Amino acid sequence: MEVIRPHQHATQRASAEWFTGDVYIDAISTGPHVKLLVVHFTPGARTAWHKHPFGQTIHVTEGSGLAQSRGGRVEPIRAGDTVHFEPGEEHWHGADSANFMTHLAMQEIADDGSDAIWGDHVSDAEYLQH
Ligand code: MN
Repeated sequence: MEVIRPHQHATQRASAEWFTGDVYIDAISTGPHVKLLVVHFTPGARTAWHKHPFGQTIHVTEGSGLAQSRGGRVEPIRAGDTVHFEPGEEHWHGADSANFMTHLAMQEIADDGSDAIWGDHVSDAEYLQH
């Protein structure tokens, strides 16, 4: 048994390459097979468009945000909501423009070590269409 305390891991700032705005990540588990993250989005911050090789489940623990699957509508998501994305389903998720949003994110890791395939940033026009 190993107890890991919060001070043993520094919160990581998410890469501007894959996120818009300020996003902070606490990694709970990084593998080898499953990744579990706590992702904190500041107001207006969001992922880029991306997909996960084995899909992803997110569970909102605080605040309110937005999520969209390619071709679908922008859906409001709030604390207590769980969203499942299918393998290869292109999507984004983030805070709404007025509030912080924190979600758990759980996804499997492919043999090549990847858990996400990243695309274009979500433009302001795309983000504001809800
Ligand atoms: Mn995702």
